[in-house]
Amino acid sequence: MHLLLWSEMAECTVAPVAMEDSDREADSASDEQDSVPASPEPRANEVEKDQDKEYVGFATLPNQVHRKSVKKGFDFTLMVAGESGLGKSTLVNSLFLTDLYKDRKLLNAEERITQTVEITKHTVDIEEKGVKLKLTIVDTPGFGDAVNNTECWKSVADYIDQQFEQYFRDESGLNRKNIQDNRVHCCLYFISPFGHGLRPLDVEFMKALHEKVNIVPVLAKADTLTPTEVKRKKIKIREEIEQYGIKIYQFPDCDSDEDEDFKQQDQELKDCIPFAVIGSNTVVEAKGKRVRGRLYPWGIVEVENPAHCDFVKLRNMLVRTHMQDLKDVTRETHYENYRAHCIQSMTRMVVKERNRKYALLIPPAEAALAHFITLESHITSTSVFGLMSQTTSLPLHCTDLPANCTAQR
Ligand code: GDP
Repeated sequence: MHLLLWSEMAECTVAPVAMEDSDREADSASDEQDSVPASPEPRANEVEKDQDKEYVGFATLPNQVHRKSVKKGFDFTLMVAGESGLGKSTLVNSLFLTDLYKDRKLLNAEERITQTVEITKHTVDIEEKGVKLKLTIVDTPGFGDAVNNTECWKSVADYIDQQFEQYFRDESGLNRKNIQDNRVHCCLYFISPFGHGLRPLDVEFMKALHEKVNIVPVLAKADTLTPTEVKRKKIKIREEIEQYGIKIYQFPDCDSDEDEDFKQQDQELKDCIPFAVIGSNTVVEAKGKRVRGRLYPWGIVEVENPAHCDFVKLRNMLVRTHMQDLKDVTRETHYENYRAHCIQSMTRMVVKERNRKYALLIPPAEAALAHFITLESHITSTSVFGLMSQTTSLPLHCTDLPANCTAQR
């Protein structure tokens, strides 16, 4: 058997191609001779070649980013909070067309008397047109259910802090690849349609969490109200949000060069707050079409009909227009605040620890001087993590945090 050497293989394969190239060159040269235009104007492909010389190629950067992020996939964590029975699970299922609550166990009245707030997490991988989304829904069963609901927002706040803490640890660790980001990007807060505006528990919850998470208030079960009642309730709730100094998620302002249609849509979205929503897991027939809705003796309420409720506006906002902004605000504002507070409180603890050690070793006058020197040198020249490594068992919980260190949007 004759084995081809690399040089022979190269001859076999490259030679014909080279011949073709030279043929093509000769052809094009003769073409050029045959059809040289009389005018000295450059031909179109020459103009293109000249343009190519000036084209560096960074205009393709958005495509590169797009390709990379599609490959990596996206994640989003949505929290739903509010009294049980307000339609949270029904709405989540309607929003993402999934059944996330298959194994849910509902408690009876007796069990709920002493119930504490639980935090449950459901994750689903959804794919649409090749784009993958890992969606995590964090639910808060038991919130507002007990007889005494004092501070029942606390476990929700602790959960959000724990996710920040985990991320902070991972980000400061040695292996920063593949960090699992469980930070909560948005909290849909369900307001009862039966009260007169906000209840004390609603105010307490939103005030306790507005610095930690993007709160989007929703008016639950809007089909139980007439359009006029919905309008009045929305105005009242917006006034109360303002009055109590609650900072809900703010939609970013439109750029001045956006077209009028876009600006109008944006304004409509802002005027919608709180979104009046209706949820349903059943498909009914309305005007010959099968739609997601609620069938009553007097008619059908369609979940996706903008004349009936703000469900579509809420879904578009969450998924199509503001998902990335919700993630950006979480990272740039809420997480930054947590991180800054943590670093401050850790620095304080380390300095205190150092001073305690010095005080044990040296007499009082020198200790006072050493205190001053260590304080200054630590704050100005040593990194917090350098300090952390010298005092090994520091807890990362930032409970005694100063209030003057908050990142603003
Ligand atoms: P959750 O405890 O907040 O998760 O509430 P569920 O989603 O389990 O809903 C409680 C009850 O309210 C169920 O009987 C639902 O069918 C009903 N429900 C859910 N959404 C709506 C709605 O938009 N309007 C009305 N009228 N009822 C709803």
